[in-house]
Amino acid sequence: MLKITRSALDSIYSHGEETFPDECCGCLAGPSDGDEVTEAIPCTNIQNKLHERDSGQYPRTAREAFNIDPLEQMKIEEAADARGLKLFGYYHSHPDCESYFSAEDTSQATYPTTDDEEGPREPIWPDAHQLIASVKDGKADYAKAFIWDAAAKGFAEEDIQVSS
Ligand SMILES: [Zn+2]
Repeated sequence: MLKITRSALDSIYSHGEETFPDECCGCLAGPSDGDEVTEAIPCTNIQNKLHERDSGQYPRTAREAFNIDPLEQMKIEEAADARGLKLFGYYHSHPDCESYFSAEDTSQATYPTTDDEEGPREPIWPDAHQLIASVKDGKADYAKAFIWDAAAKGFAEEDIQVSS
């Protein structure tokens, strides 16, 4: 189950509306001694930059994909750590699309355990919560959360508990 405050969830919704029709993305953070996300830290979606540089390797634009700059993520982690926060996972939006963990999302959040790209995969961050907000016509609609299910070897939906 993902626990998140209403204000953190609202700021994810605002971020998704701001970047619409592109996907937004960011990190879920909260006090490191707690079990609740209290802050959504926005990240820059560098997908368009990657697509412009190499559309062969990055065929999708930011309308249907996101990518976080690893350097920006490192800085966010350091800044969060300095404030006594830890990262619980990630969020992104699906513009004009339902909230579900797509094949693209799965491939981005996992790595192949053999030489076969299509073969078995393991999660890069096994404990990370993945929140996806559906934004339709520029307005945030709803969110779902997903987490790696080790038995099923795939991402499964989990409950979201919103506190005030
Ligand atoms: Zn997605």
